Amino acid sequence: MSKATETVLEIDLDALAHNYRFLRSRIGSETQFMGVVKAFAYGNDMLRIALKLEALGIDYFAVAYVKEGVALRNAGVKTPILVLHPQPSNFSELIAYGLEPSLYSPRILREFLETAKELGQTDYPTHLKFNTGLNRLGFWENDVDHIAGALKGRDEIKICSVFSHLAASEDLREREFTLGQITSFRKIAEALDEKLGHSPFRHLLNTSGIINYPEAQFNMVRSGIGLYGFGNEAEIDAQLKPVATLKTIISQIHKIEPAESVGYNRAYSSEGYRTIATLPLGHADGISRQYGNGKTYVTVGGEKACIIGNVCMDMIMIDISGIECREGDEVVIFGKNPTAEAFAATAGTISYELIASISQRVKRTFIGV
Ligand SMILES: *Cc1c(COP(=O)(O)O)cnc(C)c1O
Repeated sequence: MSKATETVLEIDLDALAHNYRFLRSRIGSETQFMGVVKAFAYGNDMLRIALKLEALGIDYFAVAYVKEGVALRNAGVKTPILVLHPQPSNFSELIAYGLEPSLYSPRILREFLETAKELGQTDYPTHLKFNTGLNRLGFWENDVDHIAGALKGRDEIKICSVFSHLAASEDLREREFTLGQITSFRKIAEALDEKLGHSPFRHLLNTSGIINYPEAQFNMVRSGIGLYGFGNEAEIDAQLKPVATLKTIISQIHKIEPAESVGYNRAYSSEGYRTIATLPLGHADGISRQYGNGKTYVTVGGEKACIIGNVCMDMIMIDISGIECREGDEVVIFGKNPTAEAFAATAGTISYELIASISQRVKRTFIGV
């Protein structure tokens, strides 16, 4: 840990390696591991994270969009990359960069076959996504016949894998629903094997699925949030290490009198003599206005200080009354204390949204190798 001299998101690559090994220890030795690095690896810096995971021997990457896969290839990533949510307008770029599309509807299958044909491809690797209850993206179970028909006599593409996504793998109250998804997925995969005459590999589980449904690992698992240090439950969180720490420093300290206000719209009003510190980060850095007005704390030398008043675009103010500190001292916004999970919870959201929202304006620094 180095001391911050400005706002930085410090990425701990040793913590990433620890989380990867922990998650691997929860799956079979034959089960492949797909690292989900979409959205700048959930805000953590996609390229450094992917290169580290590739060095650790990860089997596959997943991104959401084609441009994310292109950035990985341009950085020298050689591992296969699944694009979860491609559009026909980027299919030729996808092929040019050797990325592998998720085919998720009859329209997408038809359009991809067309592009693959125009570009003279044979056996281009693709993946079939089925909807088993999330109702977001994917073929329906009864599309299997349609898919088999559309592929008959075509050699432009090959189906490498079949997959689906769980709607509530972290919520054990939805266990019955999840078991239903697992059953339909198995049924779909079996029907496909029969119709296609070969067996694409199968994958279903995200991070919480790995933890809660080990019986449904199939041939591969897909993990994002777990790699970055969050398991959606306290017992698992305790065994993972947060990869990202958002740190900043105190720009200025103000001493204010009773009945003074702080910040826009005078949203904070002091009841007594207070000491207020101004920090150089705001909603344009990803700390949204939801975190203002006393709901959320950060730490200064390990002591809690509340965010007061309205979060500004480039600044937040915290109440440091009674805390021994000076201008230039370090402030932890989230990391070990508070954790991103705890910080996010104060505004009714989740670690995923908080870390993925830290804007590209915030400098990334790296520790570990
Ligand atoms: C984002 C995503 C994942 C990763 O989920 P985590 O909960 O972060 O492990 C896996 N599969 C799909 C289809 C996704 O979109």
